[in-house]
Amino acid sequence: MAEEIIRNEAAEGGEPNNFIIQAIKEDLAPGGRCEGMKVHTRFPPEPNGCLHIGHVKALVIDYGTAELFGGLYNLRMDDTNPTKEREEFVEAIKDDIHWLGYDWGDRYHFASAYFEETYQYAIELIKKGLAYVCELTPDQMREMRGTHDTPATSPYRDRPMEESLDLFQRMRAGEFEDGKYTLRAKIDLASGNWNMRDPVIYRIKHATHHRTGDEWCIYPMYDFAHPIGDAIEHITHSLCSLEYEDHRPLYDWVINNVSVPSKPRQIEFARLGIDYTVLSKRKLRNMIETGAVSGWDDPRMPTLIALRRRGYTPASIKNFCERIGVAKNPSVVQWSFLEHCLREDLNAHAKRAMAVIDPIKLTITNYPEDQRESFTVENLPDNTEDVREVTFSRELYIEAEDFMEEPPKKYQRLYPGAMVRLKGAYIVTCTGCRKDENGKVVEVFAEYDPSTRGGNPPEGVKVRGTIHWVDAGNCVDAEVRLFDRLFTVPDPDRADVDYMECLNPNSLTVLTGCKLEKSLADAKPGDGYQFLRLGYFCADCKDSTPEKLVFNRSVELKDSYKK
Ligand code: ATP
Ligand code: MG
Repeated sequence: MAEEIIRNEAAEGGEPNNFIIQAIKEDLAPGGRCEGMKVHTRFPPEPNGCLHIGHVKALVIDYGTAELFGGLYNLRMDDTNPTKEREEFVEAIKDDIHWLGYDWGDRYHFASAYFEETYQYAIELIKKGLAYVCELTPDQMREMRGTHDTPATSPYRDRPMEESLDLFQRMRAGEFEDGKYTLRAKIDLASGNWNMRDPVIYRIKHATHHRTGDEWCIYPMYDFAHPIGDAIEHITHSLCSLEYEDHRPLYDWVINNVSVPSKPRQIEFARLGIDYTVLSKRKLRNMIETGAVSGWDDPRMPTLIALRRRGYTPASIKNFCERIGVAKNPSVVQWSFLEHCLREDLNAHAKRAMAVIDPIKLTITNYPEDQRESFTVENLPDNTEDVREVTFSRELYIEAEDFMEEPPKKYQRLYPGAMVRLKGAYIVTCTGCRKDENGKVVEVFAEYDPSTRGGNPPEGVKVRGTIHWVDAGNCVDAEVRLFDRLFTVPDPDRADVDYMECLNPNSLTVLTGCKLEKSLADAKPGDGYQFLRLGYFCADCKDSTPEKLVFNRSVELKDSYKK
């Protein structure tokens, strides 16, 4: 249903618009549900892993929409599942969101901070005859859940209110082991929506919570805790991904049957999927635990912390999320579009530098041995204010692939007799090469034309090829890491695909002994550059040190998959 995809035109300069914005406008209109109110949204990550790019889409929708309406946004850690959540993820999530440029100010909350209120709302439901303590095990519950045409059953549904109240209080007091009882909302066992067939809203779990410690041994289910958290925080619009659509009747039922202080509205949007990767914390965690990647911040991962380490900028990621728009139907976006957004940003902002990642020596035989000269080059194209010096001497490094002894037709780089431009320096003519005992080329020879300083060919001579180089006597060594897609198939995230079987064994290439121009010796972790002809790179924020520089390739200059 293409008509449901309404693009957010902000990036193109038009009025942003999508079905969520429309719905909010209706709510704010005279007589609407939120007339005179400030739009208030929240982002509710579960701190059981790091944020991935799918979460950024949710963030851009949650926070971007609030910003658009001059409203407020909260950050709420959705920590109602004590066994999987950890404080280190809480900190990592906050750090990631700040890095993107969002600030929730003092509106920082934890679902676990509402455990007492949530418990009291459950008591309210029991007292109203709208919840009961059930003794069915999960297996029994499944057996008795009914079919499409027949209702579910529970022999405990008509347990007297006083008895449920007593049992629920004793559940809280820790009298029973895990799984002995649950609290179920009494809604409709015959509902066509499975979520409404008396869903469990509390379970017993003797587990230590990362914030509340051992204070609780019963924990509310997401479907009960979430609307309550939203209502307590006076969220006007609870925006979430499409898998919660079938849960919305339950969300509304909770809001309408307990005496919460406000009535939020849930609106769903399609989850972001990207080809050649998986966007699920469970799968990403599994890849880490099995050693397929080095951690949440492995630069091949679709997590924010990894994209950051890889050299992605906040602008490129937010721009990507804005441009793919907000849709109601699931869609898979191309990873190469994310790369395109990065390239666009880096092309405008990344300083240029020269680096040789597969070096071979080029000796300019007619250049004096004791001579070295400097060239002033621009850090950004057409910006004569921001410049640096690069040096040139008799011995240089060039890419091994820029020389061929017997080139194919149309090869415009170095081969015996060929004339090329050494970027920004001189025109040289190749005179031959030296090989080792195995026949491998180890050194290339050329002669330069002193009249071509700056790279301008003599009158009437056409020089097609331009290659990059570094001064062998004035450069720094580095390790360079190149990345390819993590998976070999476009849809590893599909439910029926065994993603672990589709990992690309060649997704990481580590090159050592690369030669960078001297100015890069000062590169700080995270600094990004365009290495001429090779792509955009950034100094690794974990492993790069002044003693041992490590660069990650953020993205190539052109989409190499396009063909
Ligand atoms: P995962 O399956 O990766 O664990 P999740 O939904 O369980 O995802 P949460 O931490 O609960 O992870 O997600 C926080 C918010 O981010 C939720 O509101 C959810 O709707 C949203 N979200 C998660 N994944 C995506 C996605 N791929 N696209 C858009 N929104 C997403
Ligand atoms: Mg979740």
